[in-house]
Order: sequence, then C-alpha cells, then structure tokens
Amino acid sequence: MRVELLGKSLDELREWMVSCGEPAYRGGQLYQALYAQRLFDPAAMTSLPQAVRERLKEQASLALPKIARSYASADGSIRYLVPLEEREGERAATIETVFMPSEKRQTICISTQAGCAVDCHFCLTATLGLIRNLTAGEIVGQILLALVENHQRLTPQTNVVLMGQGEPLLNYERVMAALGILLDPQGMGLSPKHVTLSTSGIVPGIDRLAGEPPKRRPKLAISLNASSDPQRDEIMPINKKYPLEKLLDACRRYPLRPWEQLTFEYVLLGGFNDTTEDARRVVRLLAPLRAKVNLIPWNPGALPYAQPTAERIEGFRRIMAEKGLPVFVRYSRGQDVFAACGQLALVESISSPGTWQQISV
Ligand code: SF4
Repeated sequence: MRVELLGKSLDELREWMVSCGEPAYRGGQLYQALYAQRLFDPAAMTSLPQAVRERLKEQASLALPKIARSYASADGSIRYLVPLEEREGERAATIETVFMPSEKRQTICISTQAGCAVDCHFCLTATLGLIRNLTAGEIVGQILLALVENHQRLTPQTNVVLMGQGEPLLNYERVMAALGILLDPQGMGLSPKHVTLSTSGIVPGIDRLAGEPPKRRPKLAISLNASSDPQRDEIMPINKKYPLEKLLDACRRYPLRPWEQLTFEYVLLGGFNDTTEDARRVVRLLAPLRAKVNLIPWNPGALPYAQPTAERIEGFRRIMAEKGLPVFVRYSRGQDVFAACGQLALVESISSPGTWQQISV
C-alpha cells in the first residue's frame, strides 16, 4: 500500500526519508517541493535525486484530491465538490471547497469535517450530521487544489477561511497540523493575517487555540448569530453547552496580537434576530472586546428562514456603527451555486440540472 505523504509535516517527511535510508534533509526538499513549489508529480521534483523520485513514484501517494464536479457562479466564485476516499463502514462523503477571486486577492473557503455534528439550525451542512473528520492532507489538499486549478487567475494575496463544512475546533489536531504547513514560511507561507478559523463557539477549543504559538495561530471568528441565550439556544444548540457568558469570557482571555481583532459573524435571519433591540444587545455583549462584526444577510436555501429586509439590515448596521463597533455587511458569494454560508450541502441534480438536492444523506 502506498504511503500518503500529502499533509505530512516537515518532521514527518524527514522521518519518512530516514526510514527509506535517505538523509533527513531530503524530507526538507520534498516538503518544499510539495507545499512551496506545489509539485505533485515526483518526476518534476528535480531537487531530489532520480532514485528518490523513483521511490516516491512507486511507494508514495502525493495526489491532490479529485474534483467530482465544479460549479461556476456568475460572480466568479467556483464551488468544487470533492469526494473523499471511501472507508470501510463509513458513509460516502463529499466535501466542498469554494474559490472566490476578486481584483486584488482570492479567498479559498475550505471544509475541516465531512458534515458536522454541531447542528446549527440555519445551516444545511448540519442536516448531514458528522460523517468524519478530515485528515491534515485532505484539509491542505483543498487549498492546493484550488490554487492549482486557478493558477492563471492568481493574484498575490491569498486568504484562506476555515468556514466550509464542519466545526474546525472539533477536529483540532488535524486542523492544527494543516495550519502548521499553511502558516510555515518554508511550507505554503501564508501569513496568519490571511487565515481565519471560524467556530460556532467551542470554548475549550478557543482556550486551546489561545495557547498555540502566535505564528501558528490563525485569526479567530466566532459565529454569534443571536443577541441573547434563549435566542441562541433556539438556533445553535451548542449554546446550551457553552452559553454566551462562557463564550465571551473565553473571548476576553484570548491573547490577541497587536494587529488583531476578533470577528463576530452574525447571520441576519429575517424576523428572528434582526431587530433594533437585537442590535443594541449585541453592542452591549461585544463592547468589552476588541472586535468587529460581519453581518451576513440570510441566504435563501432549503431551510425555513426569511431573508432580512434591506431596511432591517441597514438599521442593524447603523446602530452598531453609531456605537463605534466596526461593522460590515457581507453578502455571501456564489449564492446561485449554493456556495454561500450555510448552504454547503447541496448538489445540482444530474438528472434534472437546475434543481438542487442534498448530498450524502
Ligand atoms: S454553521 Fe458550521 S458549526 Fe454550525 S452546523 Fe454548520 S458547519 Fe457546523
């Protein structure tokens, strides 16, 4: 059986080379070739001697994840459906990666789990339940895949957001292993300023992340979506385990770097959490924090929530801005191909294009 090398750290690749009777530094050369140069065919890795390239070809797997289908949105975003390798006794699973180009930068939204156990009621991924955790290779592979696929359109700045399927802090070790490669200047070389991990509010995970070395820590975004515990309990059952006070306490003790602020995401669900009273309560909750708010008007999908009206969105935004809270309205991209927040669980029906059905359930 071939050894899977994509997603292995520098130390792991060194160890593998040593186990093959090669000097450890060959592992460093392979690490560079894979993550910095993005070479996945051993034949192209000319920094390695011929014999090592042969061994890689025969014994290792360096392949990027496959794309089952891709959907191009009218706004330029591309949504990739990526089937995971099937494992015995597990449901087949397809994850999603979204590439969103803009003039000066591109953003890649990646999944960290197949499905999700957190059960946020406004999220289509939740309807899948948790299928399984992704490996570090499957996480890193999504970014490499999006970069390779869009090579012609790359601009200097790449943002990565861990906001696709899954709760990243419930797949902690593998997510951190992937981030180690992503944020390593010798690896993929992204700056922590351009990598954002979004959580539903897993307090022990936030505390654990707080203890990581600053160079290995992404920015932190918290999916808030409510202005009180009863309201949050209703749409995010995780709030019963980690209610607002505990969550905001964890945010208060989180060691922000000088340039950093916490991001709070607030999906505006029409008629549910979009009143002026909600806005005032959110301002009070976040006042003690160095924070900004992204308001995300609800995307029409298969779930029974309403889109907020333009007046409600603007009213909500204005109250926050007047109180000095940095606030931005983010209209999700890729809505026409269900690539937007909370929609990553639908595929276009092959038998009747234009209609969408849930995946993997
Ligand atoms: S919003 Fe995120 S954490 Fe909540 S169910 Fe969906 S994928 Fe899971």
